Amino acid sequence: MHRYDEELEQLGREVLDYALNRLRLDPVPLDKPRTPDELAAAVGRTITEDGLGGHRALDLFARELATSCISIDHPRYLSFIPAAPTEASSLFDLVVGASSIYGGSWLEGSGAVYAENDALRWIAELAGLPEEAGGVFVQGGTTGNLSALVAARHTARARLDGARPPRWRVAVTSGTHSSVAASADVMDVDLLRVPVGEDGRFTGADLRGALDRDGEGVFAVAATAGDTNFGTVDDLASLAEVCQERGIWLHVDAAYGGAGLAAPSVRHLFAGVEHADSFLVDPHKWLFAPFDSCALLYRDPNLARAAHTQKAAYLDVLTEGSDWNPSDFSIGLTRRARGLPFWFSLATHGTRAYSEAVERTVEVARFAAAEINRRSYVELLREPDLSIVVFRRVGWTSDQYSLWSDRLLQANFAFVVPTGHQGETVARFAIVNPRTTESDIAGILDTMA
Ligand SMILES: *Cc1c(COP(=O)(O)O)cnc(C)c1O
Repeated sequence: MHRYDEELEQLGREVLDYALNRLRLDPVPLDKPRTPDELAAAVGRTITEDGLGGHRALDLFARELATSCISIDHPRYLSFIPAAPTEASSLFDLVVGASSIYGGSWLEGSGAVYAENDALRWIAELAGLPEEAGGVFVQGGTTGNLSALVAARHTARARLDGARPPRWRVAVTSGTHSSVAASADVMDVDLLRVPVGEDGRFTGADLRGALDRDGEGVFAVAATAGDTNFGTVDDLASLAEVCQERGIWLHVDAAYGGAGLAAPSVRHLFAGVEHADSFLVDPHKWLFAPFDSCALLYRDPNLARAAHTQKAAYLDVLTEGSDWNPSDFSIGLTRRARGLPFWFSLATHGTRAYSEAVERTVEVARFAAAEINRRSYVELLREPDLSIVVFRRVGWTSDQYSLWSDRLLQANFAFVVPTGHQGETVARFAIVNPRTTESDIAGILDTMA
């Protein structure tokens, strides 16, 4: 198995051909899921004592398995948060896979870590974080939120010097991502649920009111810059003011929305983000990188290092020096240099191309909002801040939304699942793919008439 021979050379060409062909397709097929029984009938058992051989395994993947996966980069995939990796970033994912790089330490991966840090620097500069800010590419926003909150609590604990509140708590709102509640559960801390106004925007006044009523043990505020359901950006400047006044860690979860920092027409919504103690954005969402990639940054990386560095005799050679070891900044030790595909694409195309691509998706989202306002059978729930558009089809029941959504997928036309808001089922477009056009949007709206 560990030999590069003639047969492997042949397989290599087949694998590369497959990969290049997938990148060449325009548009990519939407595809759809199959049931376990359907897949078992079509594919059978693939793990055998003698092995299938690479040719046959690849063929099974190409014919049966890949076609049973929805293409998240299809221009009419508008559910959840889609993704649209650049060709360059996907190509470089192949390189990273072939290179056996250990991305956890400077000693082992200095070149890769240098490049990742250069890409992180761009994000830190967009956010206006200080020069010393730094961090690590982790798997996703979930791991990023957990890692940031662990660093925040570690810092709060150190400040109390042995004393501790009855319960540690994180301040959140109804718009906070589910992964923050999941992180709090893992950490065994409670949530302070802060009520916010009709527009869903978390403000300093909301926070101050909640803390004045009952602020015990609150060590962090989880603000959201682009919530997943609506794309609403919290009022970061006023939240930062209250956090500073009360000595509370400000974490800004911009897993989806952070790309908006690169788009001149919406950058003003992020005012105050420069005060964040920690900040994250998923390049695998709206910054055109393949899964899985979350850029996690700390204002003072030393605070994160104190919380996350794993200590063991066999690691002393790594941790005793002053090297920049990415593993010191998050949960996890072994890591793929998962920031490299994003870095390669950014280095290839330059930052202007990113600004233009993000701005283009915002433009299509504005078109969608205008088109919804123009058509009498649909109604916008909120003017979009970024590139998520939520609206109702007047008169539809929850079942009608589901039927409509199922039909779009079965017809191989679009993947648009409904969402909920205050108990009501509604429709939602999340637009992060620069290939999504105005006519894609109009075509989908036509199907609701
Ligand atoms: C997607 C998302 C997350 C979770 O990120 P993963 O990469 O899916 O783990 C967290 N917060 C927000 C606001 C998100 O949109």
